[in-house]
Amino acid sequence: MKGNKYMIKLKNVSKFYYSKGVIASGFTKINLEFKMGEFIAITGESGSGKSTLLNVISGLDTYEEGEMYVNSEETSHYLEKDWEDYRRKYIGNIYQNFNLINSYTVYQNIELVLILNGSSRKEAKPKVLELISKVGLTKFKRAKVSKLSGGQKQRVAIARALAKDVPIIIADEPTGNLDKRSADSIIKLLSELSKDKLVIIVTHNYEQIVAYATRKITMHDGKVLEDKKLKEVEYKRPEENNYKNINLFNKLRLGIINTFNIIPKFILLLIVYLFIIVSLMSEYSYFKKQEHENAKSGYNNIFIDTSEERIILKKKDKSNITNDDIDKISNLENINYVVKNDAIIDSTCFLNTTDDSYSIDGAPRNISMLSGKIDIGRLPENENEIVIEGDRNDYYLAKDYKKLMGKSYNLSADGSYNDPSAINNIKIVGIKYSRNDDKFSPYSQYKIYLSNNLINGLQRNISKTSSNITMNFLDHNIKLGRYDSEYKITSNKSVPKGSAFIAEYNKYDCPNENCINKPITLKVENLYYQDTINLSVAKYYNNKNITSVLELPNYSNDDYDGTIIYMSPSDYNKLYKDDSYQASIYVKDVKKLNTTIKKIDELGYETLSMKDVLIQSDITVVIRILRIIITIILVITLFFITYFVIKLILKSRNIYYTTVRMLGAPKKVARQLLIIELFNITNISCLVFGIILYLNKTKLINYELLSTINTYLELNDYIILYLILILLSFLISEKYAAKIFKKSVMNSYREEV
Ligand code: ADP
Ligand code: MG
Repeated sequence: MKGNKYMIKLKNVSKFYYSKGVIASGFTKINLEFKMGEFIAITGESGSGKSTLLNVISGLDTYEEGEMYVNSEETSHYLEKDWEDYRRKYIGNIYQNFNLINSYTVYQNIELVLILNGSSRKEAKPKVLELISKVGLTKFKRAKVSKLSGGQKQRVAIARALAKDVPIIIADEPTGNLDKRSADSIIKLLSELSKDKLVIIVTHNYEQIVAYATRKITMHDGKVLEDKKLKEVEYKRPEENNYKNINLFNKLRLGIINTFNIIPKFILLLIVYLFIIVSLMSEYSYFKKQEHENAKSGYNNIFIDTSEERIILKKKDKSNITNDDIDKISNLENINYVVKNDAIIDSTCFLNTTDDSYSIDGAPRNISMLSGKIDIGRLPENENEIVIEGDRNDYYLAKDYKKLMGKSYNLSADGSYNDPSAINNIKIVGIKYSRNDDKFSPYSQYKIYLSNNLINGLQRNISKTSSNITMNFLDHNIKLGRYDSEYKITSNKSVPKGSAFIAEYNKYDCPNENCINKPITLKVENLYYQDTINLSVAKYYNNKNITSVLELPNYSNDDYDGTIIYMSPSDYNKLYKDDSYQASIYVKDVKKLNTTIKKIDELGYETLSMKDVLIQSDITVVIRILRIIITIILVITLFFITYFVIKLILKSRNIYYTTVRMLGAPKKVARQLLIIELFNITNISCLVFGIILYLNKTKLINYELLSTINTYLELNDYIILYLILILLSFLISEKYAAKIFKKSVMNSYREEV
């Protein structure tokens, strides 16, 4: 077929430039035919349209009018993708300014073309070496292109153009930047190496090329002025060039090479990424810290100890807590200690000397909760010995401790000075000074460490103050414990179990003035239990016989009170039990609180954690919302700052990616290379930051910010932040790619050079 003779044919082709509303003509109505084997010199004054013509023939730029045929195929309907294919299949370009990747070595520049067109590195190697040797640069194969002379660079460019094994070589003033000697050798090289190809060279210096050229075309003002055949050429069939796409492995490899290729760019990007990571992390951890502190700063009217470590626990069947329960819970992970009598924690206990010279109140604690060593005195050795903890500057503890420790005290949960159920003979044997940050209770300045036995006594005391007792006597229901109540109850060792001793005076209320054996029923009721105790009246007492009927040491006549009903200690203790119905658990690590609560729930207990009982004031809620908004604004601002900084840094990469496209890589591949490059930076900066965090954790370095991050961020948070970074990189590469690859290759290239 005759048409096949012409590799490329232009029919009335025109090219216009549109810029800022002005139309300029590149060339108009050009009619030309090129066939394989020709070596064509195009000359003409500057601005005559030579470069424009070459760019259109190369498929780097579009044309607006006429038709260009490639192998007799029309191209006016070509889309971006078809031009990509066309360039890969047919065109090798050589430029005046070489257009090499300066940060690559000679070898890498040539290898890149082969790899972008689907060769493996192994396949590429002999070809690359052969080409390097053909252009006489074997000695320089490992040299960075930026270190080469102009002539050497153009040799690399020729080798690169030939590497693809395409039928058409297009060179735009390849010797324009070279001295005469290098220029001569370049032209000679080109003519030798591309014997069977179609070569089109634009040159200012026709003399230089005349010995090799088979045809000379002169252009003037966008038109062909002269088209002169110099030599006869033999027609040669173009060789088929079968290219493949770059494989995934090589894409990754190129992406990695590009990441580290230009060290200043790498460092700059790393700094920017570290900056975002630090900003995001510090903002996020600061936010979590504030949330955390907020949670702590709430208030609650019922619980005094609202420390986060505390979990309150009850049994589902409302029964009392046994030592078995305590053992079961203590065996769980993350448990610091278990306080069986939780009611103690939120109560205050009182120590009064019998002469009322000293009165101390404090937060009762089990002696097992005492940590650290005692500052004065010793640890308790029997059940009635206690330790007191308070501020180092407290007058009593620091100056007056000798007197304090010399006294004997009554201990009760009721502040009143003559509490009959108070526990007597208590001795302070040790004093401990709190660390400054130990703010354990807003109400008491002391902690009082008690033995199990004393705790039980207090528990009984507390159940007394929190219980309602209704007495049924002579068919009357009487509420006890109120100030106006006609009756009171007290225990006394002289009363046998099941009996009650009443004042003789009360017998007048009984039928036949005889109350003996009359039943008294006591009903006790509190938050945790209800019980009924049946007594019967066994004896009367009066102000004369009282001291013989009852055991009353230190009794004086003034103390006589006829409203008291005496009962046995065992009945009394049944009324006011020392059983615990609610325990408190203190965890070791607050961060694992939720896991621990779940475990306790699974064991079948009801739990309540302190963070759930705290009430936030309105102002805290408002501040919190404000802070969330500020955080969001900050993150968005950060995103944009980063985007623009990275865009600026990447601008220097435009030339790389355009070159990659000129060498035949499709847009998709160029975009993927960009994404890989940013992903690498993301991962490296995350890794670097991770190492820094780790060093801070091991105290090799010490920054408060890093410590805050370490304290408040958990694995989940790190994963979320990592995903945000990956997303950020992805968005940036997509946006950037859309921008630089929107234009035709030539347009984006033009903007750079
Ligand atoms: P040559 O390579 O022969 O010096 P060019 O092909 O570069 O000439 O230019 C041909 C004409 O097209 C000139 O008039 C030039 O001003 C115009 N031209 C070239 N590139 C552009 C462009 N990007 N935008 C507008 N006009 C252009
Ligand atoms: Mg030009």
